[in-house]
Amino acid sequence: MEQLLDGYRNFRKNADIELYRRLAKGQAPHTLVISCSDSRIIPEAIFSANPGELFVLRNVGNICRLDDPSVACAIEYAVNHLKVPHIVVLAHSDCGAVKAVEHREHLDSRGLIDWLCEECFEGCDLDCAIKASGIRQFERVTAHPAVKAAVQEGKLEVGLFFFDLATLSLARYNGRDWEKIC
Ligand SMILES: [Zn+2]
Repeated sequence: MEQLLDGYRNFRKNADIELYRRLAKGQAPHTLVISCSDSRIIPEAIFSANPGELFVLRNVGNICRLDDPSVACAIEYAVNHLKVPHIVVLAHSDCGAVKAVEHREHLDSRGLIDWLCEECFEGCDLDCAIKASGIRQFERVTAHPAVKAAVQEGKLEVGLFFFDLATLSLARYNGRDWEKIC
């Protein structure tokens, strides 16, 4: 715990207090990011975003099953109430959730089985399987009625990105292929 408390003290020392004073009155994030819980994936760092800019849902494997209340709630709150103009599903290399499904012996407890057993990650290699899963999650998000309606009205854009840890490269799915951003 000391490490966390030291971290907090350091944060407190360097925090932009004016920014937090403004944010204390409310939030108006521009993007809902659905990301993996993986400790190496920090959406705010990857997109150079300040507090207040990203509304983030994180879970193991950035899974977007709409029958999960946490996923449905985050999407509905972001779209209907915060009226975010962007939703991004952020998939990443070396994702443990995809690896666990590929190596079924890792699915060794109730929570993991319940969360991941419905998922089917298929691909020629791990990156392909992760990207295929990302497309599946992206399709789930775009199928949500609130998302569909906002997209049709031209108020919302939904994107899918793949972040590669080893090279820091980012690729964007264009509906057919992956385009490297840089
Ligand atoms: Zn992951």
